[in-house]
Formats: sequence, C-alpha cells, structure tokens
Amino acid sequence: MDISMDAAEILEAVWTLQEQGDASLADVRRMAHTEVTDHLLRQVEQEGLIAVDPAGRVSLTAKGEALAASIIRRHRLAERLMYDVLNADVEETEDAACEFEHLIAEGITNAICTLLGHPRYCPHQRPIPEGPCCQPAREQVSSIVVPCDHLRIGEVGRVAYLSTQDHPRLLKLTALGVTPGVHLRLLQKWPSYVIQCDETEIALEEAIARHIYVWRALDDEPAQLRHQGIE
Ligand SMILES: [Zn+2]
Ligand SMILES: [Zn+2]
Ligand SMILES: [Zn+2]
Repeated sequence: MDISMDAAEILEAVWTLQEQGDASLADVRRMAHTEVTDHLLRQVEQEGLIAVDPAGRVSLTAKGEALAASIIRRHRLAERLMYDVLNADVEETEDAACEFEHLIAEGITNAICTLLGHPRYCPHQRPIPEGPCCQPAREQVSSIVVPCDHLRIGEVGRVAYLSTQDHPRLLKLTALGVTPGVHLRLLQKWPSYVIQCDETEIALEEAIARHIYVWRALDDEPAQLRHQGIE
C-alpha cells in the first residue's frame, strides 16, 4: 500500500513513542517530522492506520503497525548504513534517514540489511524490525558478513566495512589499504591478530579485528547484491 510521506511520518512517530509508552496527540505533533494538521490526522485515521481515543491517545491499528514496522525498518537501517559505512555522526543520521526511508524499495532494504549483517539495533540502540532476510540468516551457522576475528586461520574475506568511527587505529588501517572491497587473509589469532592485505602483513589487537567486517566467500555470497547494483 502506498501512503503519503506525511502519513508515513505520523506512523513513524506513533511507533517510536509507543516504544517508550503511550503516544499522546501532543507528543505525536511534537515528534513527527512533518506538520501534523487535524486534516492529516483525520486522513490517516480514515485510512484505518491509526486510532485516536477520546483522551487523545494515538495507537496504531494492525494495518498501521505493519506499515510502521517497514518504515521504521528502513529508517533504522539507513541510520546504520550512514553510521557504520559512511561514518556519519549519530546526530546527523536522523534527518537523512527520514529522507531515505521514503526512497528505498523493499528489495534494496533487504540487500542493505544483508550487507550490514542483519543488525538488530540502530545507532541509538533502538530495535530494528526484522525483515524476511533476517531470520534465515540468523539460522545459518555463520552469517555472510562477519567481524574478521570470526574467520578461520588462512581464510580469506573481502572487507565490507569498518564498524566504528573516530578510532585512530582504524584510520591508520585505512591508510594501509584495509578499505571496503579489498581482500584480506587471516594469518594468525594469537598472541595477536595478523592479517595479510595485498603483500602487507598487519598485526591487530583483537578489539580492532572485531571492527573489521568482511564478506565470507560463501557460494551465495553477494551475488544478489551485485545483481541489485549495491556494490
Ligand atoms: Zn521519518
Ligand atoms: Zn536510530
Ligand atoms: Zn535482514
């Protein structure tokens, strides 16, 4: 079902408020990234997406909840993408994610989710609603994108992203050529982690190794993503 961007922002506000308790009409007006006019509210109510009780509490109908979940999912995955991969500030991610959530199609959403390793929380530590891609991936013994300390000795992975920012050591890694897309081989786990990247051997602390996410070379690896033009 297609709903207007304004309606989507209302559903998003109600969902987010309900995570913390009740959603009052006043809170929805304050929280939504759009002007919540009475006309708009009535419209969203008439579409059967929300209900407003006499006390001014707003709730999602079953239909509204399903839609809100998919909007929230896109919003929070967009935040993760910007934070983890594009190194955006948590504060900066909010507005951009709100734009992004209206643009990305379902298939792309699931591709981004897979790329990020099916994250459970956004950078604000709010839960990301699961998509059809998440459950099967969690049931697999090993997921496709893993921190490089999950590789076996000798195993090769292709760098997907570095998961943390503002870390001088990670910046140095980038300077050494450990950037998304390059292949690395895990040579040793003890007494320190050693990876080989091109011809260079690099020693890492475990804490750093955990922040380098790599694609494992599984059969069904990023074929789907390649297909959708993500990489
Ligand atoms: Zn939004
Ligand atoms: Zn968030
Ligand atoms: Zn997923």
